Amino acid sequence: MSGPKPAEPACPICERPALAQFKPFCSPRCADVDLGRWLTGAYAIPVPPDEAGDDEPPAPPQPVRRGYTFGDD
Ligand SMILES: [Zn+2]
Repeated sequence: MSGPKPAEPACPICERPALAQFKPFCSPRCADVDLGRWLTGAYAIPVPPDEAGDDEPPAPPQPVRRGYTFGDD
């Protein structure tokens, strides 16, 4: 008596049966492809504006003073 076969993991790249040593891929080539996709996708994600962790209020703009000539009239 044997239960249902465990679902064989398929390579997410080419959907061939994955090999244990390359899980979840069928070959190192597919692992490379997936890694490349992942990295490309990560780089493609735009960096969100800095709105998280605003514990400190934004610094007010500082007046620009040029040297020590201020009030030297
Ligand atoms: Zn594959």
